[in-house]
Amino acid sequence: MQCPFCGEGALVHQTKDMPYTYEGKSTVIPAVTGDFCGACGECVFTDKESKRIGDAMLAFNRLVNSGA
Ligand SMILES: [Zn+2]
Repeated sequence: MQCPFCGEGALVHQTKDMPYTYEGKSTVIPAVTGDFCGACGECVFTDKESKRIGDAMLAFNRLVNSGA
């Protein structure tokens, strides 16, 4: 499948750890499964995986905001 973002790369289905940064603090969201573009780095997730990633990001944001 061709990448819908850049139209150049091919999307590759894989699972990998995704770095995430909020307010200068970094974490890694483990074992994120999606279709990743090798050309531009964009990725496409299923609805279920998007929700899990969103929840993980929000949880990390709360942790950072709490000062931990
Ligand atoms: Zn792309």
